[in-house]
Amino acid sequence: MRDFRDIPRFRDVTDEEWNDWRWQLRNRLTTVEDLEDVLNLTDEERVELNRCFERFRMSVTPHYASLMDPDDTACPVRRQAVPTSFELVDRPEDLIDSTAEDYDSPSPRITHRYPDRVLFAATDMCSMYCRHCTRRRNVGTTERHATEKEIDDAITYLERSPEVRDVLISGGDPLTMSNDRLEAIIARVRAVPHVEIIRIGTRMPVVCPQRITPELCAMLERYHPLFLNTHFNTPKELTEASREACARLAGAGIPLGNQSVLLRGVNDCAHVMKELVQGLLRFRIRPYYIYQCDDETGIGHFRTSVSKGIEIMESLRGHTSGLAQPLYIIEAIGGGGKTPIMPQYLLSQAPDAVVIRNYEGIISVYREPDDYHDSQVPCEICASGEDARVGVAGLIGSDEVTLDHVTEKRLEKVRVRKERMADIHGHQEVRPFLEGRRPPAPAGEPSV
Ligand SMILES: *Cc1c(COP(=O)(O)O)cnc(C)c1O
Ligand code: SF4
Repeated sequence: MRDFRDIPRFRDVTDEEWNDWRWQLRNRLTTVEDLEDVLNLTDEERVELNRCFERFRMSVTPHYASLMDPDDTACPVRRQAVPTSFELVDRPEDLIDSTAEDYDSPSPRITHRYPDRVLFAATDMCSMYCRHCTRRRNVGTTERHATEKEIDDAITYLERSPEVRDVLISGGDPLTMSNDRLEAIIARVRAVPHVEIIRIGTRMPVVCPQRITPELCAMLERYHPLFLNTHFNTPKELTEASREACARLAGAGIPLGNQSVLLRGVNDCAHVMKELVQGLLRFRIRPYYIYQCDDETGIGHFRTSVSKGIEIMESLRGHTSGLAQPLYIIEAIGGGGKTPIMPQYLLSQAPDAVVIRNYEGIISVYREPDDYHDSQVPCEICASGEDARVGVAGLIGSDEVTLDHVTEKRLEKVRVRKERMADIHGHQEVRPFLEGRRPPAPAGEPSV
């Protein structure tokens, strides 16, 4: 990391300005000329960048820009922030909204995919637009915060969805909103009686740690239990400013988690990931997920093989703290959701024993108890005979012999959400999954 005063663009900036998040947002780098003051661009890069800007926007906070290597295009920070012409490549296999968030959206800004929790996209704005962003179809094209009407509808949806006990306020990046604006949303979510926990998803601790002010922390603290997940991808992002930001959040009693994306040329190495997860713990952040990069238009050059992810997980478990172990996730296309992937530890099994192996390659046996059936003291639900488990767990907990009921349950879920939608919006249109969702424009033409 360079001292910002050593960078021509920021030579005359005062500490006070630099540490002011609004200054950071106002002074984001958005053009080739802006980049010229921070990086030593080649002629080729200039041409490439101008082509990219016809289609996608760039935005880099001064803080994040100060972490970029001025000469090395392979710098992992630079790769996440500065566009390359690879983004203009449309591959036939690439999808738009590959994870079908729009399909699972019963109200604008709400994605309701899992039984008991929803995603609430409070804004389309981020302080920095990650080149690998899966949500680029919505994020950064307008920089719009949710309107009053959208918020009203989202809250109404939450109020009518008694099964929702966990609301994840995300975006975009919700911390691009002012404290007052954000609090107005959090307070309304908190007022919904059945909402137990609130989560914030934000990259600010990484790209604009100045945003994590004592005032923000004091506000968030009033809405506990509240969790915050952030998005560090490389050890280079673990700066002193970020450490202090995380300390303020943790000091407000907010449990911190991290969601990384496995990215080619950024962190696709077992050693780099190990350094990252250990560094996160020093910042009091619990590594939560490592995502396989989605099959989304314009980010194909960041994708790695799944085997690389498995190799990384093999190199973490056992080798470093259990606290440092994230789950490695593939977001299944078409709304299948988060699917964990890991190396195989169970080698074999028989009625009386399982055979396992550990990280060192030691193979051992675990003998099953020969007198175990089900719990001798059934819980209330088991005792009632009304086991409502669905999916694969439902197959275990019921008399079903096939998973045919999965489709039924899914249709039922969609029906209930459509009903609520009709109540709130007066119509029941659900965008059909993947219909017409292929990339609209040929390479090089503006599409957003
Ligand atoms: C990731 C995600 C969640 C939260 O999932 P957890 O595994 O509980 O962290 C909720 N809704 C949607 C649509 C998501 O993509
Ligand atoms: S912070 Fe998240 S939503 Fe915003 S651009 Fe980055 S990955 Fe996308």
